[in-house]
Amino acid sequence: MKQYQATIGGKSVSADSDFTVLNPANGKEVGRAPNMGQKELDAAVSAAKAAFISWSSQSDAALQTACAAVAEKIEAHSAELAELITLEQGKPLNGMGSRWEMGGAVAWAGYTSGLSLPLKVLQDNEQGRVELHRKPLGVVGSITPWNFPVMIAVWHMLPALRTGNTVVIKPSPFTPLSTLRLVEIMNEVLPAGVVNVVTGDDQRFNLGGAMSSHPDIRKIVFTGSCATGQKVMQSAAETMKRLTLELGGNDAGIVLADSDPEKIAEGLFWGAFLNNGQTCAAMKRLYVHDSIHDAVCDALVAYAKNIPVGDGLDEKSMLGPIQNRMQFDKVARLVTDAKGRGKVLLGGEPGEGLFFPPTIVSGLSNGDALVDEEQFGPVLPIIRYHDVEEVIRLANDSPNGLGGSVWSSDKATAREVASRLECGSVWINKHGAIQPNAPFGGVKASGIGVEFSEEGLAEYTDIQVVFV
Ligand code: NAD
Repeated sequence: MKQYQATIGGKSVSADSDFTVLNPANGKEVGRAPNMGQKELDAAVSAAKAAFISWSSQSDAALQTACAAVAEKIEAHSAELAELITLEQGKPLNGMGSRWEMGGAVAWAGYTSGLSLPLKVLQDNEQGRVELHRKPLGVVGSITPWNFPVMIAVWHMLPALRTGNTVVIKPSPFTPLSTLRLVEIMNEVLPAGVVNVVTGDDQRFNLGGAMSSHPDIRKIVFTGSCATGQKVMQSAAETMKRLTLELGGNDAGIVLADSDPEKIAEGLFWGAFLNNGQTCAAMKRLYVHDSIHDAVCDALVAYAKNIPVGDGLDEKSMLGPIQNRMQFDKVARLVTDAKGRGKVLLGGEPGEGLFFPPTIVSGLSNGDALVDEEQFGPVLPIIRYHDVEEVIRLANDSPNGLGGSVWSSDKATAREVASRLECGSVWINKHGAIQPNAPFGGVKASGIGVEFSEEGLAEYTDIQVVFV
């Protein structure tokens, strides 16, 4: 079994012990990653701190060129990384799986390289000149989840590098191998110490917590659950770190009475089941107007039952297993609870190992666990509603506010409803679509700050105002 190494200060580094990474499709070992602690984290942070001096003093054009070279490298290794993602994460190579994730990683890396934050002149007259400059922060700590390991790593690292920061990244213990390899590849075109990676199993040592409180890390960009995000915020307080927190969601989809069930079934399905529902901005509860409730349920079930689920290496698979046992158990618990309260229209019974078929449950309402909690798996609750005011209230009745969607054949009505949803992104007749030129982030408990576009880039800088 392959032993993967970390990269610190441009060198391959191991630790005194390792941990095993399993393929969720068959439970077999994919590889081993270094089980690191404070010593390795300190080494990574000091390598990044040392590299910051020359990396941040480059011209803006030089930073742009260096980031473009990173984007090209990632693209050149897309096929290799896609296979590694499938092996450790479980998602299929095909469809909206690991090749698609790599397509996103390459698109974001390229687009972010081309962004810039030019100097702003706030005033220039006989009273004086006032300029707004954007300065890099120093060492950025990136903590990533297991659902889109490479794409989210790129979302964190490229804007940090583009604005002149250096990076220490820590992937999830469930999916560290693709990040170890990604960082190795990036180091082929970056100076030593600009990007470093540390990995650990979260059992022996709390690497993420140690990063969040580390005195030489100036910012944490974190994507993960709300509960861990809160811990990050607490540990970061003492050192006044800058934070971008992309946390959990419980996105509502609202189907208005004038929708065509047949036309929207495919969009509804992928809005909810992309990456097996293990997507932050997936539709996690679907509200359907009473008048077309049954027709929408029928159309959705008819579409969903033909989706092939299997080992991600099989080109026929469109969905894979749930990524890990903990998440599987959570989904199983929520489905068992929902069975006693609603009607299972599709699926509902666990498969082999970590496989769980696409599951659709109707007859539920707010207050049921499957509606109130983030399931983060292949199960969708459908809730019947009777009027628009009622459904807006139900949709907003959540501590989360990541995304939301409204489905209707009348765009004006849909926009009006959409404008009243409490969430960072809202889609009409689709769900979950994101792009590198549009800021993405959550409101309420779903996070702080945004990623992507100039707004996202600015979060990797501090402002310095120069009064001349
Ligand atoms: P998680 O919070 O369990 O883990 C995320 C990362 O935090 C991992 O790298 C983990 O090792 C690390 N970590 C664990 N304890 C820590 C601590 N005390 N301090 C700092 N870091 C620590 O999340 P997960 O299960 O990997 O991911 C699923 C969650 O992520 C879901 O809630 C999902 O909605 C959310 N998510 C959000 C977005 C978004 O953009 N908003 C994107 C993807 C996933």
